[in-house]
Amino acid sequence: MKVLTVSDEIVPVLHTPAVREYAQGVEMILACGDLPAEYLEYLVSMLNVPMFYVLGNHDNAERPPEGGENVNLRVVEYKGLLIAGLEGAQRYNSKPHFQYTENEMRAHIAALTPALLLNKARYGRYLDVLITHAPPYQIHDGADYAHRGFKAFRWFIEHYQPRYLIHGHTHIYDKRTETITTRGATTIVNTVGYKILDIPIVASRRKEER
Ligand SMILES: [Zn+2]
Repeated sequence: MKVLTVSDEIVPVLHTPAVREYAQGVEMILACGDLPAEYLEYLVSMLNVPMFYVLGNHDNAERPPEGGENVNLRVVEYKGLLIAGLEGAQRYNSKPHFQYTENEMRAHIAALTPALLLNKARYGRYLDVLITHAPPYQIHDGADYAHRGFKAFRWFIEHYQPRYLIHGHTHIYDKRTETITTRGATTIVNTVGYKILDIPIVASRRKEER
């Protein structure tokens, strides 16, 4: 499935009607936070496909994008893809706004666990795509507090082996910076700006087919 993923930076060419050509064949939008609601709504209305999103540390909770589905702490299934979300970034100041400590993020993962176990029983796998705002610890992350990734996400990758972890938050200042990294079964993608991914749909192994 062709998927448009976006976060953090408005891409001018996507903000014009040319987006229809540019993103031809895209069947879903995944948004990883820190983008104005108007921009996301523009993408949804131009491409006329569903959008699943999480919010970032600069987002406005009072003005969520319309026409999309917030998947923070939730698992959704779309056309055979199992998708879940974990919003926010590392807590770095005393006025936290979508900022979480490692312990809080671990608790968020624990909240997702029953749904992941149900997926495993139903489909033979926990998850296909995890969308987050922040990166995993030491993968595409920064050294400062605000941009440090979550160790909890490393744990998530090891235990639940989603095929993709798609995140934002880490701006790219050097074109040589890696934005796609593989760890075990998981491809980690920094989508700051945008990416168009081709995510293969795995045939579901249902229990009754044993
Ligand atoms: Zn951010």
